[in-house]
Amino acid sequence: MIVPFFISHYGCPHQCIFCDQRSITGQSQPLPLPEEIRSTISSYRAVSPGIPAEVAFFGGTFTMLPLADQEMLLAPLQPLLASGEVSSVRISTRPDAITPDQAAFLVARGVTTVELGVQSLDDHVLTIAERGHCAKDVGYAVNVLRASGLRVGIQLMPGLPLSSAGKDIASLRAAIDLCPDFLRIYPALVLAGTKLAGLYENGSYQPLTLEGAVSLCAALLHRCMKAELPVIRIGLQASDSLAEPGKIIAGPYHPAFRQLVESKLCYYLLCLMADGFAGRDKCTVRCAPSRVSDIAGQRRINLESLAGKGIVIERIESDRSLSPQEFVLYDASDERRGNLLTDIEFNNEGELYV
Ligand code: SF4
Repeated sequence: MIVPFFISHYGCPHQCIFCDQRSITGQSQPLPLPEEIRSTISSYRAVSPGIPAEVAFFGGTFTMLPLADQEMLLAPLQPLLASGEVSSVRISTRPDAITPDQAAFLVARGVTTVELGVQSLDDHVLTIAERGHCAKDVGYAVNVLRASGLRVGIQLMPGLPLSSAGKDIASLRAAIDLCPDFLRIYPALVLAGTKLAGLYENGSYQPLTLEGAVSLCAALLHRCMKAELPVIRIGLQASDSLAEPGKIIAGPYHPAFRQLVESKLCYYLLCLMADGFAGRDKCTVRCAPSRVSDIAGQRRINLESLAGKGIVIERIESDRSLSPQEFVLYDASDERRGNLLTDIEFNNEGELYV
């Protein structure tokens, strides 16, 4: 159970060109006060009694808040951590806002996980995005956090100005080399009121298309799967604020973006496995229960695309003995097995090897 608190833009030294934290979180409020923190945690726990809470401070730059504010936010958690009502605490911050002293301060107050907004590990991309830090700062921050015993998450943003599929994949490879505990991937969107919106409107920036972002994120996710690096989110979470008319000016937003990406990977593998099945109209796919909807695709897009190639899949069977990476395609006379990890491969530009 995660109890989220949004500290939108608090602590940020400036505004990065793509960021409108208040649009993303739907909040433009002052920092939560200790009593509000205590009562919010208690109302979450009342709904799910007995389940310890993970408290998360999202948005903003936690470790650039004045120390008194960091103390104010973390102090109400101390008795709850001691009693076990709160099991862990996570914060979000920037790579250039981490020092050994700051990491020790967090550990002493029960913080267990730090998420770093990294976005890219290409210095040109970071400069044009007005991030105010360079790729080297990311390596330093990850090393300091890990040496302090903290779990580390990295957030990447493919599709920023001056980036490319090749640069976004190189950023991911560099991120994997840093051995974080998990990743989030948020393709760049053009939000109203940001500098990026100005670049888009004067024609000097073109965001990824939805199809392009899905294909690129499929290649990124595939690399993470092979590296056994968990990706805990792909694409921004749908919110009332993001859904307001005019909030997203352009870019690859979809409320179920991750499913599009997972479905795309399944489609690639099925195309490979179906080689030799063309013209047969009674094929069945067997897969883990969690993969049934990914194989069909949203509005059965995968099945329709395969039918367009002459491969008609009549049924999708769930089989608990298969892992989410393994599929079996069969009909009365033939059977093929496929594996997402070992049977498909992408090059360094995110293109599928065929
Ligand atoms: S540091 Fe993060 S929260 Fe702050 S402006 Fe930049 S992207 Fe937004």
